[in-house]
Amino acid sequence: MADEAFTPNTDDLVVNNTRFAERFDGGDLQVAPSRRLAVVSCMDSRMDTFQILGLANGEAHIVRNAGGIITDDVIRSLCLSQRLLGTREILLLHHTDCGLQKVDEDVFKAELVADTGMKPWWAIESFDDPYEDVRQSMRRLMLTPFLAHKDNIRGFVYEVADGRVYEVGSEPIASPHAG
Ligand SMILES: [Zn+2]
Repeated sequence: MADEAFTPNTDDLVVNNTRFAERFDGGDLQVAPSRRLAVVSCMDSRMDTFQILGLANGEAHIVRNAGGIITDDVIRSLCLSQRLLGTREILLLHHTDCGLQKVDEDVFKAELVADTGMKPWWAIESFDDPYEDVRQSMRRLMLTPFLAHKDNIRGFVYEVADGRVYEVGSEPIASPHAG
């Protein structure tokens, strides 16, 4: 992606914040999410998680990364969310046209090694099908010992073309030893 026309934004955003603070009225919100809900979603710039789900400030934890992947750090956040701040429900939100569908794990890693001399110690976690990747994420949540509350885990794919979320059915896990 070309860098020529880039101008940093942060000064503008700090000005925006002074306007935000002038009409701020959220000072009484509690640290524990009032809906006792945690959402894990992709960092995609087209997804306003609050707007998509009709959430308000103070209602839910939002954990985001590239792809909305269940990484060790997402487990860490969800563990704290459940044990310290009382959440009991997890909603996974992946989406169509994700950047991770456009990257080849091996090629990306080889380029990183060539550019930096360092092999990344994390997986890129690229995927082809966002629905299948939601199922993968649900399996990881079900298997981790660090989450005690797994009765209310549901997964969705946000369709960037129409703004709707489509629920991913929890299909049986194929046995690697089947057949
Ligand atoms: Zn994405």
